[in-house]
Amino acid sequence: MDRLKLPGPKAQKILDRDGAVVSSSYPRAYPFVMDYGVDTEVWDVDGNRFIDLAAGLAVVSTGHSHPKVVKAIQEQAEKFIHVSSDYYHPVWVEFSERLASIAPFSEPAKIFLTNSGTEAVETAIKLARHHTGRSQFIAFYGAFHGRTMGSLAFTASKSIYRQGFNPVMSGVTHVPYPDPYRPILRATSDDYGETVVNYIEDVVLKHTTPAQDCAAILVEPIQGEGGYIVPPNGFFKALRQLCDKYGILLIADEVQSGMGRTGKWWAIENWDVEPDIVLSAKGIASGVPLGAVIAREHIMDWPTGVHGNTYGGNPIACNAGLATIDLIENGLMRNAAEVGEYTLDALIEIQMRHPSMGDVRGKGLMIGIEFVQDRTSKKRAKNLRDRIVYRSFEGGLMTFGAGENTLRISPPLTITRERIDESLIILENAISEAEAEGLD
Ligand code: PLP
Repeated sequence: MDRLKLPGPKAQKILDRDGAVVSSSYPRAYPFVMDYGVDTEVWDVDGNRFIDLAAGLAVVSTGHSHPKVVKAIQEQAEKFIHVSSDYYHPVWVEFSERLASIAPFSEPAKIFLTNSGTEAVETAIKLARHHTGRSQFIAFYGAFHGRTMGSLAFTASKSIYRQGFNPVMSGVTHVPYPDPYRPILRATSDDYGETVVNYIEDVVLKHTTPAQDCAAILVEPIQGEGGYIVPPNGFFKALRQLCDKYGILLIADEVQSGMGRTGKWWAIENWDVEPDIVLSAKGIASGVPLGAVIAREHIMDWPTGVHGNTYGGNPIACNAGLATIDLIENGLMRNAAEVGEYTLDALIEIQMRHPSMGDVRGKGLMIGIEFVQDRTSKKRAKNLRDRIVYRSFEGGLMTFGAGENTLRISPPLTITRERIDESLIILENAISEAEAEGLD
């Protein structure tokens, strides 16, 4: 495989300057220094071209600098860039109306706009406490919900996120996420998702978290940072029933899985279950910072003044969001379903040739490949995964890790079969080369 020499000289200079002034806390994947991007391709400052299967971590939903999104940003910037959220403007209202129209529940929706995913989570936590008058929450091991002090209490993907930051917000109990490839609970049902819900009811609610104190269960419909884990089919139905039984709110964190990525507006719709609150960010405005809390009307019942933000409803972000929704609605969601299925099938075929590919899973263009040292023991092949990500990068392909040993594929929803074919040749070469060095 032809390999790029990375980082190139111009990139190296930026890395040196970055090291001097940018916070050392950012978990950089590899030394990619972006110059520009067009749709599913990006170029670094040394002129090297890459196919982008990461999309800035599932953010650039409509491809890099889609002309319609650029136009929406430009047109709004020329009119006004900011007005206080103490006032009103039509784009904010129109965008909220559009979000309400795609909310995954039959009841009318109300929207609170944020500047990021973590702020959407913070808002939902406060809303859930405010609406229910209850203090406790349930979340899942492996979950990622953000890094601010409230959302961090729910994040449980890597302990490094908490190292040196405890105590976080109190009142969150974690339970295993229903990972069908690695079930850790003794089965109490044929469906492992139902087993996990039985565990919540029979263990957590009985022993530590009284149901009448439990405000909400916060869950990623497909676990993202935790390893692109797709739960078993019975999970969400059982979770919904549990929530209904005890008056607990069901909050779907769709920051990564939403906005058409799985071939539906919201991943939870793949299981025909209606949550009470949906959280969005990442792909919602094609990369312009924006997030949203979409709640059933009767739940977003808090009085004036209890919650707000300076940049909420930013007009540029809202206009970019409107263009994004138009594009996703008019073809990209269908493309995500079709090209996603095509990619999954192709990867399952590649899997037959590579013993290290323990599990290939996903919905739409949210696909994970879990690498193992051998398929029987399922011992995690973290180093191998890291080598594959890096070799792919050197081969001109941007991918990203998820969980300990999974590689995630989350390209722009514009990606074509041809571009996937080109990507998978690079990826398979990288896998072969990395396997040849050993499976650990
Ligand atoms: N929730 C999920 C499911 C995420 O994947 C992320 C980010 O990766 C967040 C919340 C936090 O979003 P942000 O980084 O915009 O704060």
